[in-house]
Formats: sequence, structure tokens, C-alpha cells
Amino acid sequence: MSIAVKNITKLYGEQKALNNVSFSIEKGEIVGFLGPNGAGKSTMMKIITGYINASEGEVLVNNFDISSHKIEAQKCIGYLPENNPLYLEMYVREYLQFNASIHKISKEEVENVIVKVGLTPEAHKKISQLSKGYRQRVGLAAALLHNPEVLILDEPTTGLDPNQLAEIRSLIKEVGKDKTVLFSTHILQEVEAICDRVILIHNGQIIADKNLKELTGNQEQLIEVEFDLKIEKQFLENIPHLKSANNVHDTIWELTFDTSKKICARPFLILPMTTD
Ligand code: ADP
Ligand code: MG
Repeated sequence: MSIAVKNITKLYGEQKALNNVSFSIEKGEIVGFLGPNGAGKSTMMKIITGYINASEGEVLVNNFDISSHKIEAQKCIGYLPENNPLYLEMYVREYLQFNASIHKISKEEVENVIVKVGLTPEAHKKISQLSKGYRQRVGLAAALLHNPEVLILDEPTTGLDPNQLAEIRSLIKEVGKDKTVLFSTHILQEVEAICDRVILIHNGQIIADKNLKELTGNQEQLIEVEFDLKIEKQFLENIPHLKSANNVHDTIWELTFDTSKKICARPFLILPMTTD
């Protein structure tokens, strides 16, 4: 097990930002942590990485308890915080070498990481001169320097333009091939593009933890239809994939389908039966 989160609760004063959160992530998984703003994603990530303490519960990273064995656990973690704080006045290579020196990492390794994240053409520039996409690469490079087994990326694609978005997505997939990755986002498409599993958080609670096939495969659709005529329920029962039909009012029906296929795009004909 790479990450085990057990019954984590976090209080900020009176406010419960996380409420009894539990999940675990196996080695090598890329997992999306999806939820709206204020759901508790960053708080959970700060607790996993040991930057803040939980009020209750336990987190293990590669079997090291983050509160009692913080240094050992942090050695296994690469963390890209939300808003990617960088020293804008530093040069890319200088910044990464500065970070590397703190962890006693060689200059050669810094160069390897620069190549890995595609920063070679920008490495001589000041960070302030870089686009948002390249700044994210610098943040990602800094997180990768000590070759951690686990990557925690807090909203790594927020604020990027479509080209940068595609590049950072494929970079995360690439570096995630031999790592465990937990990345947060408030956009479902991000999860679909990058990973196989999603953990859904809302108001500090986990509301779903599924692989993506399950989530999209079980999708139900509900549409409201107004017919020209009054209709008997039995006529509707022949519509493919229909799960239920509810007569809301007069000629208006609410139809539920147990499929993710686009129902509206498929025309069908209901012939009213004549009675003698
Ligand atoms: P997300 O990353 O999903 O947007 P956060 O973890 O940042 O959510 O925040 C979860 C909740 O906790 C929010 O209601 C936020 O206002 C609150 N919160 C976050 N950090 C602090 C803090 N340092 N002090 C007080 N409240 C906080
Ligand atoms: Mg956040």
C-alpha cells in the first residue's frame, strides 16, 4: 500500500474541513481526487504530506506514519502544492539546483529531471519569464528531484490554456508510469484524461471511490419529454434502455435510462394505438 488514509478528521476552529475520511491507494495507481472548491482536497493533501496535522486519524505513506515518522514518509513524497509557489526572481536551473542542494542531490540529477519534464529550452530563463505551463513544469521538476515513489499534485492543471493542459496531462501520465500519483482537480474531464480511478470528495466527506469505468458505466440519464398527445405508460416501455417512466403532468413525462449513451440523439416513434 502506498497511501493509507484512516478516519481523518480536520477541524479549523469550529469548522470541520474533513470528516472521517478513509481511502487507500495501491503502488502504481494514478488517482484523481475530485471535488468542488472548498471540498477539502488541499487540506487532505497537506495532511498526507505532513505540512499540517490532522485533528483525528492516521496517514501512512509507504507504511511510514506521517506524524511519528515524518522524515521517512516525506522522503517518499513529491509534492506540488496548490498555486505552485516559486521564487520568480530565480532562474529555472538555479532554483532547481537550490532545491537539490537542500536534499543533497547531484547537479547531474537536476539535469536529468530538467530533460524529463521538457524544460531544457527554458532552463536558462528566469521563472518570472515563463508561461504558466512551464512554471508548472518547474514545480513538477522540484517535486521529482529526489525521485519519490509517491506524487501528490494539488490542482496541477488549473489555469492552463488548452495546449498547456494537454502537455501537462501527458507529462503527468508519463512520470506516473512508475509512481503512485494522487492529483486533485475540480474538473471531471481531467480525471477521465489522466487516470483510472476517482475519489470524490464533497463537504469534507468521501462520496464515491470508484474506477472510472464503473462510474461512467453506471451512468443514468434522466430526460423530461413533452408529447403532443396524452400517452399510456405501456407505449413508453418499448423504448430501448428505459428504466422508469414517470408521468409528471398531463403530457409531460420524466424518463430514466440506464445507459451512458446519448438517448436524445436517437429518434424513436411512438404510435398511439387506436381503440375500438
Ligand atoms: P479545496 O482544496 O477542496 O478547495 P480546502 O482544503 O482548501 O478545499 O478547504 C476546505 C475547507 O476548509 C474550506 O471551507 C476552507 O475555507 C477551509 N480552510 C482551508 N484552510 C483553512 C485554514 N488554514 N483556516 C481555516 N479554514 C480553512
Ligand atoms: Mg485546494
